[in-house]
Amino acid sequence: MPTAQTALVIGGGIAGPVAATALAMAGIDAAMYEARPADPAEANGIGGSLALEPNGLAALKIVGADDDVRAAAVPITRSVMSIASRPGREMPTPQGLGPRQLVDRGALHRILRQRADRAGVRIHDAKKLIRVDERPDGVMAHFTDGTNASADVLIGADGVHSTVRRLIDPAAPDARYLGLLGFEGLVDDAPDTAALAPGTMTFAFGRRAYYLYWKRPDGRIGWGANLPSPEYMSLKEARAVPAKDWQHRLRTAYANDEPGARLAAETTSGTLQAVGGLHIMPPVPHWHRGRMVLVGDAVHAPSNSTGQGASLAMESAIQVARCLRDMPDVPSAFAAYERLRRPRVEKIAARGARISHAKAPGPIAQRMMRLILPVMLATMNVEKTMAAEQRYTIDFDTPLQEDNKALA
Ligand SMILES: Cc1cc2nc3c(=O)[nH]c(=O)nc-3n(C[C@H](O)[C@H](O)[C@H](O)COP(=O)(O)OP(=O)(O)OC[C@H]3O[C@@H](n4cnc5c(N)ncnc54)[C@H](O)[C@@H]3O)c2cc1C
Repeated sequence: MPTAQTALVIGGGIAGPVAATALAMAGIDAAMYEARPADPAEANGIGGSLALEPNGLAALKIVGADDDVRAAAVPITRSVMSIASRPGREMPTPQGLGPRQLVDRGALHRILRQRADRAGVRIHDAKKLIRVDERPDGVMAHFTDGTNASADVLIGADGVHSTVRRLIDPAAPDARYLGLLGFEGLVDDAPDTAALAPGTMTFAFGRRAYYLYWKRPDGRIGWGANLPSPEYMSLKEARAVPAKDWQHRLRTAYANDEPGARLAAETTSGTLQAVGGLHIMPPVPHWHRGRMVLVGDAVHAPSNSTGQGASLAMESAIQVARCLRDMPDVPSAFAAYERLRRPRVEKIAARGARISHAKAPGPIAQRMMRLILPVMLATMNVEKTMAAEQRYTIDFDTPLQEDNKALA
C-alpha cells in the first residue's frame, strides 16, 4: 500500500496532469487544481509549439499518452545549425532513438488532461493556490475563491513562478530572467525556405539575435524568436504591447539575416504570439518540506535551449509518484525522489545555461562563435553530450527498492 492515500496536485500545465495520472496509477487518489479557468479562450496560456525529446516520449509512454501525442505532433528528423545566414550544418543526433516531436502546446495540454481524467483524477479549474495549512499527517490547501482541499501530500507543479516553492522555503530563489523575450510566428513558404524538407528544424544564430524555424506539414514555416532585451516582461505585459510594435522590433533585430528578415517581415499580427521573458531556475536548495514537494519548472526549469523543460517535468512527475508508491513513509519518499532527480536535472540545466549565453552574445563573442561553433559541431561527441539525456527511461513498474540502476 502506498505511503500516501491522497494527493493534491497544484498546477495543470504539463507536470501536473502527468503527476496526477502517475499517482492514480500508483493507487493514490489524486485531485488537480489549476489557476486558469476552463474556458478555452482564456485557458490557452502561452501557446506556441513544444519539442519533446525521446526521453519525454518515454515518460509519456508510461502514462499511456505517447501515441496520442505522436498523432498530434510533427516528427523532427533533421536538425541544422546556421550561423550568420551561412548554409546550415547538419547537427549530429544520437543513434537508435526516435525523432523529437514538435507538438502544439494546447494540444499537449488537452491530451494530458484527458489522460488524467480517464485515470480518475478530479480536475478543478480556476483554483489558484494561495496558502497551505500543514499538519503532521496532511495538508490543507487554500484557494483564492475561498475554497480549500485536504490530502496526505501536496505536489507543487505550479511552474516557474511557483507559489508552493515559496511555501516550502520562503528564502527559495526566484526564476532568473535570461535577458531574452520569446515569440512565435507563422509565414508562407518562399524561395528562401522552399528547399527545406518537412521535419527539418533549423537553429539559426542571426547577426543580432537567435531564432529557429521549421517547415510545417501544411507547407508553411513556423518560427520562434529569442529577442535580446534588458527589460523583463511577463507574458501578460508582452501581450499588452501592440503587435505592430513587436513586428517593428523583430524586423529590426533580424533585418540582416536570411531567411530571418523575411520571416520577421511577413509575420502578421494575426500569427504573432508573444511569450514574454524566458527563464531558468537556479538550483533550488529545498525540493520538499514536510508533506509538500515540487516537480517540473517549479523546481528545475532549464533554459529553453535544452529542449528538455517539458520532458524533465514529466520524468519528475512520474518519479515522485513512484517514490510515494514504493517508499515506507513520506519523508523517505521525497528524499528518494530528490536523490533520483537532482543530479540529472542540474546537469542538463548547466548545459542549457551555457547555450543561452551564446544566444545573446556581444559583437566580439559573436565573431568568435562563428569560428568556434563549426569546429564544435564537427568534433562533438553526441553520445556523450546528448545520448545520456535522451536515452533516459524510468522503469515505473519495478519497485524502487529493486531498481538498482535508479538507486545507484
Ligand atoms: C517560449 C518557450 C519555449 C519552450 N520550448 C520548449 C520546448 O521546445 N521543449 C521543452 O521541453 N520545453 C520547452 N519549454 C519549457 C516548457 O514549457 C516547461 O518546461 C514546461 O511547461 C514545464 O511544465 P510545468 O507543468 O512544470 O509548468 P507549466 O507548464 O508552467 O505549468 C504550471 C501550471 O501551474 C499553474 N499555476 C501556477 N500557479 C498556480 C497556483 N498558485 N495555483 C494553481 N495553479 C497554478 C499555471 O497556470 C500552469 O498551468 C519552453 C518554454 C518557453 C517559455
